[in-house]
Amino acid sequence: MKPSPEFLSQILDSVTESLVVIDESGDIIFVNRSWVTFGLNNGCSIGDNWFSINYLDECDKASGMGDDFGLIAADGIRSVIDGRERSFHFEYPCHGEREKRWFMMRVTSFVLNEQPYFVISHHNITKRKLAEEKALDLSQTDGLTNIPNRRFFDEFLHHEWKRCIRLQMPLSLAFIDIDHFKLLNDTYGHHKGDQCLKALASTIQKFARRPGDSCARFGGEEFAMIFGNTEGAAAAEQLNNLKRAVSDLRLPNVQSPVEPFLTVSIGLATTYPTLDQTEKDLIKRADSQLYRAKENGRDLICWDSESS
Ligand code: GH3
Ligand code: MG
Ligand code: MG
Repeated sequence: MKPSPEFLSQILDSVTESLVVIDESGDIIFVNRSWVTFGLNNGCSIGDNWFSINYLDECDKASGMGDDFGLIAADGIRSVIDGRERSFHFEYPCHGEREKRWFMMRVTSFVLNEQPYFVISHHNITKRKLAEEKALDLSQTDGLTNIPNRRFFDEFLHHEWKRCIRLQMPLSLAFIDIDHFKLLNDTYGHHKGDQCLKALASTIQKFARRPGDSCARFGGEEFAMIFGNTEGAAAAEQLNNLKRAVSDLRLPNVQSPVEPFLTVSIGLATTYPTLDQTEKDLIKRADSQLYRAKENGRDLICWDSESS
């Protein structure tokens, strides 16, 4: 059978993707039912009156108000209209008040009676995006302590390093290592040792308060803290409070020659990142200060003269 216009229109209205067709100038020629429903459900005031709208104008207006979606969408649609690209797609967030949502926008074209038309579809990809977010989260989290892992630390430090170069801000980095943890494991068993690592991690995490701060389990019984836009003195004050909070946990380590409970040694280094240094230089300095704290009797914070 040759499908009737009604038949084809029913098909378009039954698809869950929101579809809009525009002409070369961006004027809307057609929308399907999903498109109208999506607009109504998302507080769009246009209602059924889509045919007075120019899609490109709407994107440009959104872009003028600082909306990334508007800018990228308008560029992509124009690239297909101008024939620079055969098709265009991109993924964008469109979070509601109570839920996270993402969509994939696609632009394709067809010609009918020598007149080009452009089909723009929006497809909900929230399920996949949530799964990706979860996978990313897991890949950046330490399985035992549930705080960020070494992989996250590397990325976060690199990001903060570049941000501090751009804004000419100081960056502080600290390594925190449990004193005589081997004795704790030997005395109370590995399971108790694991519990201590968890308790220490959640205490450390409480001291990473600002967006430029982060902590991570660096490996074994060693943790790291990054303080973006923070001078050495301010970081040392935070770390002093942290060290006191750790001692206040009074996690027993009776064999330790330092104290009969769990203590930590901390090495701190601060720098104003520049293009002719790398994060590795800062890591090396913090690490040698940790070594110095161990050498000088443990349960100490050490930093170098460059950090003061
Ligand atoms: P120091 O004061 O010089 O740092 O002495 P330390 O005993 O803490 O250091 P050392 O490097 O000699 O030993 C580290 C211990 O940490 C040995 C290792 O078994 C233990 N450890 C590393 N990772 C884990 C873990 O995930 N769980 C437990 N329970 N122990 C761990
Ligand atoms: Mg140790
Ligand atoms: Mg260690």
